[in-house]
Amino acid sequence: MTTVGEVIAYLEQRFPSSRAEEWDAVGLVTGRRASAVHRIVLAVEATSAVVRDALDAGADLLVLHHPVYLRGTTTIDGDSPKGSLMHDAIRAGMAVYVAHTNADKARPGVSDALAEAIGVIGTQPVLPEPDDATLGLGRVGALPAPTTLAALAASIARALSGARGGVRWAGEPDRVVQRVAVCGGSGADLLEHIDADVYVTSDLRHHTATDYLATGRAALIDIPHAVGESLWLDPLARELVAHFDGITTHVHPDGCDPWSGVIPA
Ligand SMILES: [Zn+2]
Repeated sequence: MTTVGEVIAYLEQRFPSSRAEEWDAVGLVTGRRASAVHRIVLAVEATSAVVRDALDAGADLLVLHHPVYLRGTTTIDGDSPKGSLMHDAIRAGMAVYVAHTNADKARPGVSDALAEAIGVIGTQPVLPEPDDATLGLGRVGALPAPTTLAALAASIARALSGARGGVRWAGEPDRVVQRVAVCGGSGADLLEHIDADVYVTSDLRHHTATDYLATGRAALIDIPHAVGESLWLDPLARELVAHFDGITTHVHPDGCDPWSGVIPA
């Protein structure tokens, strides 16, 4: 029998919580380490659709990327949106576990899966960890052959099918790009460290993008946050199945994009 504690020990070795950013909130949210695990569901975050899907799937453990209570909480009021989900999880005996910036920095981690989906090879972290340059936030590498910015944006949109929020790009459409940096999630903080032809990340704000483009450095491609961060879940699910006998996994089929659609104006 596999226990929650054994799966946590494996995840902790893959994504050491000591590597999480100081402001982050990772690790076990609900559950007991001695409980048995047969079925693990993986998702970007604990939306009501995700928790319902996990409970319907009979999950004993829900592994998430986004913290449930990032800024802390003083209550798990069962009538509040999040409190009600946590009540449902606890009542069903489903443990909930978070690997966030520790999974971003790990290798393979969140940005590795994004780089792979885009076809970027030979990657290094954009912001290496002081004690281990192979780990860190973001990835920078190269496409096997040069392409144009517009063609790369189109190919990313195809690779991220289901990205309801759409893919936006900024720069000269014919700009030749080969060296590509990526960062799953909100990667604006890495802009000053980007040494690439194009940077692929999420949540770039108007002034951030405008000011950065004015420097004439990398072109920008903005992808839906949660979709870019859902790509590492499939390889992690396969890893867990390979490591633990008798475990089954299910990756929540929806990328947790809060946007329902986009209409080009
Ligand atoms: Zn995120």
